[in-house]
Amino acid sequence: MGESRQAPSAFPVPFAQRPVIILGAGIIGCAAARQLLLQGFSVVLVAEFLPGDQDIYYASAWAGAVWHAAAGITPDQRYLQAVTHRVMLRMAQDPDSGVSIVDAREYLEQEPTSTSSIWGNTVVSKFREMRPEEYPSNFACAWAYETLVTDPTRHMPYLGRQIQALGGRFIRQRVGALQELYDMFPDSRVFINASGLGSKTLADVQDDLCFPERGQNVFLRTQQCNTMYFRNGQEYTYVIPRPFSQGVVLGGVKQQDNLSPVVDLDITRDEIARAHRLAPEIVPAHPPEDAISHIIGIRPSRKGGFRLDSQSQGSRTLLSAYGFGGGGYAFSYGIADALVKMVERTEREHVIL
Ligand SMILES: Cc1cc2nc3c(=O)[nH]c(=O)nc-3n(C[C@H](O)[C@H](O)[C@H](O)COP(=O)(O)OP(=O)(O)OC[C@H]3O[C@@H](n4cnc5c(N)ncnc54)[C@H](O)[C@@H]3O)c2cc1C
Repeated sequence: MGESRQAPSAFPVPFAQRPVIILGAGIIGCAAARQLLLQGFSVVLVAEFLPGDQDIYYASAWAGAVWHAAAGITPDQRYLQAVTHRVMLRMAQDPDSGVSIVDAREYLEQEPTSTSSIWGNTVVSKFREMRPEEYPSNFACAWAYETLVTDPTRHMPYLGRQIQALGGRFIRQRVGALQELYDMFPDSRVFINASGLGSKTLADVQDDLCFPERGQNVFLRTQQCNTMYFRNGQEYTYVIPRPFSQGVVLGGVKQQDNLSPVVDLDITRDEIARAHRLAPEIVPAHPPEDAISHIIGIRPSRKGGFRLDSQSQGSRTLLSAYGFGGGGYAFSYGIADALVKMVERTEREHVIL
């Protein structure tokens, strides 16, 4: 029927068996892998660090990780965060996922503007402006709502198991350039670069906008771990509950270009003091030493914000998704959803010749 076409010899492996190759197995690479596998794609992840690993350069092992509406982002980026919220809200029904619904109290040093995190009230549940008598008088206003926290010590292994159960494959390998992946998988047509800070040094990426941003948080063991406190403003401070680990994460700091794996006790003391001012009923002024431990991770930040785009390279397509800084969890499943759509568009072009 109609005109018959000769399949080009450049595609020796049929569409359905051609794996999508993902570089990076942090929250971004793994969320993308899961969503692609759920759509029936074959997926291989190549990464130096895999779910369950703990290395300061593997940011996804150390995140807070709270869903908080980012300020200063575009409407499209807001929607990516909203999609993440939708996916994670469903995951919260499964305790294995490490995602929990918690109460949030957000105190603002200044009244919100149109570009601030106020847009999050369209996404979260039970949002309300708090009455002045409900929050300390040094704040301009305060909000109460329900949000989602993800315990990465549970979530990453959960994602790893889900990916494998869906037929995804992990290969532990450090690569020096994307070209190494192209050589390893000559039949694949779609490659996703979800390598976080790795994109600064990969020989054929060398994105100079990427930079490391160190975080050092305090984990405080406590039974009072169902309410998130967030101070929005100059004294940026949070108390993020981690119900599955019976504790709260106190933060935070952002130290550009600092790569030290050593605990800075001045930061620890400062974070405890700030968290105590914010939530004295949860964080004592001097918590017992055996109740605290330390979290250090390097955020994969990028000047101008994250990268999410598609580049055609002859018969190959490279999708880039990196540079999420302090928001990789809040963007994760929205980015995965966007990547699935980009992969579908690309593969359609490869199939419908
Ligand atoms: C202290 C702290 C608190 C945070 N709190 C929050 C929060 O509350 N909410 C939130 O949304 N986010 C938070 N974040 C940010 C979040 O952790 C990151 O944005 C997110 O983890 C980035 O994920 P990623 O997959 O892009 O990168 P990563 O998790 O760093 O993963 C990168 C992957 O790429 C691989 N890779 C890189 N280069 C190579 C190479 N050359 N060869 C092979 N493999 C390579 C790595 O091995 C790894 O598998 C926090 C981060 C820190 C450190």
